Amino acid sequence: MIQELHHIGIAVRSLDEALPRWVDGLGLRLEGVEEVPTERVKVAMLYAGQTRIELLEPTSEDSPIAKFIDKRGPGVHHLALKVGDTGETIRVLTEHGAPMLDETPRPGAHDTKVAFVHPKWLGGVLAEIVQDPEEAHS
Ligand code: ZN
Repeated sequence: MIQELHHIGIAVRSLDEALPRWVDGLGLRLEGVEEVPTERVKVAMLYAGQTRIELLEPTSEDSPIAKFIDKRGPGVHHLALKVGDTGETIRVLTEHGAPMLDETPRPGAHDTKVAFVHPKWLGGVLAEIVQDPEEAHS
């Protein structure tokens, strides 16, 4: 069901501050920056070889990322796992008793379909299930 680690999500206070360190310092390639209004975040996707690092900057005080930073400070926020079909994965996980934060797939950054699993199910790790848009022809 899980094909690979898709990306690691990291909460940052400011992309302007964080990006030069990841791009110029570490030399990761920036794929793009996109705002996801439903999540009230600005997302920068970086390539680290086959996997990606997703930097998340809150765009409003009530953004889930703003709340995360308030509580725990900036840092690793979630692991994203790539699947072929987010809807089917939600069904299987629910069957296994996973408390889903999303009961149906919702749009993520870069035209993905995503769903989150409550961190209490994975020992405090927030997991994101991601289906890429190009899945149909891969
Ligand atoms: Zn993510």
